Amino acid sequence: MKITILGTGDTVGTPRVGCDCEVCSGAVEDGVSRLRTSFLVENDGGYVLIDTSPDLKEQLIRAGAPTISAVLWTHAHYDHIAGFNEFYRVQDFPPAYAPEKIMDDVSGFFHFIRFGKNIVEPYKPFTLFGMEFTFVTVNHPPIETCGIVIRYGDKKIGYTADTNPHLPQRTMDELKDCDILFLDALMPESVHIGKHMNVREATDLAEKLSPLEYYFVHMSHRIPLAYPHAAFDFQTFEF
Ligand SMILES: [Zn+2]
Ligand SMILES: [Zn+2]
Ligand SMILES: [Zn+2]
Repeated sequence: MKITILGTGDTVGTPRVGCDCEVCSGAVEDGVSRLRTSFLVENDGGYVLIDTSPDLKEQLIRAGAPTISAVLWTHAHYDHIAGFNEFYRVQDFPPAYAPEKIMDDVSGFFHFIRFGKNIVEPYKPFTLFGMEFTFVTVNHPPIETCGIVIRYGDKKIGYTADTNPHLPQRTMDELKDCDILFLDALMPESVHIGKHMNVREATDLAEKLSPLEYYFVHMSHRIPLAYPHAAFDFQTFEF
């Protein structure tokens, strides 16, 4: 089983259009970026995409252009869904999996596309290509949002998706003791945003959940590209 992080950026990505801050200028000079956050999870010949970012075309090409078998959506914000139409005339639209409200929201955005819709309930695991996926409710007001837990053999990988640190107890229980935990860490410690975590909040949450390893994703240009626990685009993990 292999996980490729297709992007580690926030809704506008890094470099941010028109920004001349040190991080964005450095990213332009070095030709590096934080594409919008998304994961590719592969096993047994199946390729499962977690979120379909606006950078999907570039992400798929850089990942070797696999045919995607299934898509999971954490929530219906633009930066997590907008790339879905990139499958048009490339491959059949893959079947999508999401809780009902999230699927409804995404379907409204993509009213012009027909695709397979699989409604899954939070906290009810389902299996794709030998991997068990579980949506877990998080806290990203005002829209319904879910993190995802992946179990493979004796390994557990958690992704908080976009959220503030105030998670339901049931989600805390699901995300406890992961082998690897990916956390939303949008801002430096000095900036507080009610629907995301800053690096302090993400670190505190990671300490409560005691994973073996943890990585920040969904980072804005306010977080330097090299930063403790910062994941980077196209970083891979194999189990
Ligand atoms: Zn987002
Ligand atoms: Zn910037
Ligand atoms: Zn969001």
